[in-house]
Amino acid sequence: MKLYVLTGLAFTLLGFMADTYAERPLTSRHSAFQIPEEYLKEPSNIPGFWVSTVEETAAFLKQRIRIGHVEEIGRSSGGRPIRAVTYGSPRQGRGTSTFSGSLGFGDVRAFRGQDHDKTVYCAMAAVHGGEFEAIVGLINLIAVLETGHDLRGKAWPDLAATSARIDRIVLVPIANPDGRSRIPIRMQLHREGADGYKVHEWLNTGAKADGRLIGWPQVKEHIPPDFSQVRFPGGYPNDAGVNIQHDDFLGQRQPETLALLNLATRERPDLVLNLHTGVAMNDYYMRVHRPFSEPALNATFDAFFTRVHTGLALAGLQSTRDPAIEANPSRAPRSAYNLDTAINLHCGALCITIESPSHGYSGTNRALQPARQTPETLLEAQLVCHREAMQFLADTGGRARWTARPAKP
Ligand SMILES: [Zn+2]
Repeated sequence: MKLYVLTGLAFTLLGFMADTYAERPLTSRHSAFQIPEEYLKEPSNIPGFWVSTVEETAAFLKQRIRIGHVEEIGRSSGGRPIRAVTYGSPRQGRGTSTFSGSLGFGDVRAFRGQDHDKTVYCAMAAVHGGEFEAIVGLINLIAVLETGHDLRGKAWPDLAATSARIDRIVLVPIANPDGRSRIPIRMQLHREGADGYKVHEWLNTGAKADGRLIGWPQVKEHIPPDFSQVRFPGGYPNDAGVNIQHDDFLGQRQPETLALLNLATRERPDLVLNLHTGVAMNDYYMRVHRPFSEPALNATFDAFFTRVHTGLALAGLQSTRDPAIEANPSRAPRSAYNLDTAINLHCGALCITIESPSHGYSGTNRALQPARQTPETLLEAQLVCHREAMQFLADTGGRARWTARPAKP
């Protein structure tokens, strides 16, 4: 894929910097749900690079895409468009079998088709609508792919160069626009300690009828919850009440899930990043989670974890700067059966949940010293993560090589 990163750079960059999209109306301000006014307070100085709402994202994709292609891949339960931005040319043709059939046959190329060795990178944000960091990350990644610079004006030459070594890039900035629209703010206030955590969790996991926090993992006990029995359903579910990270994948699937699975069928990606917010407060840094997926991909996951966490540690975005500590894959939390599993078993991609700290509250490092995250450090971690993940894909060649049969002697 070729990116004309210098074309129109000055013009585009000026446009990016001047336009914060702040004047655009927000949906759901007068929603049927009661959100305490205190929880809707926003900082007075939201940075221009913090593009996080459904409306801001739609405006950005409409106005700022010159090289990529924007398409609607489906509609949410609430009727909102789900958009993807693509770069490069897609895989051509079809394989001769289903993914399952290709595994039974013993060669995944039977599913992936003639250009099985092409590399396809996919990333999606806001599967949970109250998690803004990865939306900002994907919008700034798109800015880098378009201009070589993020929305702060910072150049990312390694990221731009690596993206050019990948055949196809598919980005979904807001996978759950219903959930995101339910939280009618651009940015939370930063609150210290337990207060900040509580406000973030209230907005994201919702509140019971009496106003008390639903919380995590209790938010998963009722899918879908009875909306009449909650004060506020939070950003987790779509308008049908379903948390698509834990959809009924083999049964009645939600339109958001179906849109993502159909996109996966069409693109047959190698790697899918499922980007969330929510890390332990005593190790308050970006963390890659180990998916419940094909055992044949375990070694590839270990190498991916090591690559991404090494990049984050060396950039000062982990508890220490020591990759020997931070990048050991035995430290990866294990996910249960979820959307990552469904996408993996649907198309063979290694699909990985990655959690970010939140801009709304603080935590500590593992020595229990304060680990204050700022919008800038959060964006930095998102872009370092994409850079390392793309380099990993470009260097290792993707699914067809990860599980290739050894050549016969
Ligand atoms: Zn989440």
